[in-house]
Amino acid sequence: MKIPSPTLRLAIDCEALAHNWRALDRLSGEARAGAAVKADCYGLGVDICVPVLRDAGCRNFFVAHWTEVLPVLEHVPAEQIAVLHGPLDESDVAFARETGALPVIDSLRQARLWLDGGGGPCHLMVDSGINRLGISPQEISDPLVEGLDIQVLLSHLACADEDSPMNARQLEIFRDAIQRIEHKEASLANSAGIALGGDYHFDLTRPGLALYGGVPREELAEHIRQVARPMAAIMQTRSLSAGDKVGYNATFTASTDMRVGVVSLGYADGILRSWAGGAFLSGDKPIPILGKVSMDMIVVDLSGAPELKEGALLELPYHLPDAHRQSSLSQYELLTVLGNRFAR
Ligand SMILES: *Cc1c(COP(=O)(O)O)cnc(C)c1O
Repeated sequence: MKIPSPTLRLAIDCEALAHNWRALDRLSGEARAGAAVKADCYGLGVDICVPVLRDAGCRNFFVAHWTEVLPVLEHVPAEQIAVLHGPLDESDVAFARETGALPVIDSLRQARLWLDGGGGPCHLMVDSGINRLGISPQEISDPLVEGLDIQVLLSHLACADEDSPMNARQLEIFRDAIQRIEHKEASLANSAGIALGGDYHFDLTRPGLALYGGVPREELAEHIRQVARPMAAIMQTRSLSAGDKVGYNATFTASTDMRVGVVSLGYADGILRSWAGGAFLSGDKPIPILGKVSMDMIVVDLSGAPELKEGALLELPYHLPDAHRQSSLSQYELLTVLGNRFAR
């Protein structure tokens, strides 16, 4: 049986991905850059991205869930994988020990779980103000913390993409934690944190978004290249007469006779309804979106592109800062919403 070829593709520019990692590694100064590869490399695909990052020189890979370990383990040694959510129960601890992936310990309860399960090398997250995961500064003196064999001491910035007084405040809290906790290496900065300068770099940085083409701070713009390009085929072209309507709730009405195309992607693929009013590209030529985005279809205006026939591929402009302005989705959302019908 011949498998039908997909009508939507997510082109991943592996050269740009490697370039971005090297740029972020360089911008990390004395520190080395790791990589956040959680959520299937922000939706772009672990099997494509992790080997590229590994071959570029990356040696620290961060996932969120334990379920994300095995796909990454296909490509890199277990001791290079850190699990940000830490163990919820004994079975997570057993899984960590069996695979060799390292937990990020996020609470005293998790520290106890880890030590009761036999302990060993782990990482520790200290909360410095984001109030998600991590032990609080007051908990640092707990004997459980002293019992841990901490490889990397981590904290996470809440506002690195802004010029906020939170950044300096979190830096100060983290520096204090570093003095008080025995550890091998320290890590604070995400993508945006790298651009905050040398004070924020420590030994290891943890970029995610910027690897995949996101630009969380203007300072990074010149260094970061677009990685992901969604493309989809025109399935059908149609001729509209003046007065004809398009799509659900008939929100577009043709003012003259015109030719339109039906493109094979929609909000089920992560091209959400906030893209209405935007445009695809054929080469450099904008191909405007008409009416509402459907689950599996988007109708486009072909009046300016008579050369486009059924089967032609259109690209959705996905330079993330621009796509953010167009769709009002965050650059993180733009990546992680892309669905699994794309051939990556
Ligand atoms: C997701 C995540 C990162 C990566 O952040 P970006 O903003 O995507 O660079 C780094 N550290 C932690 C703890 C994270 O959860």
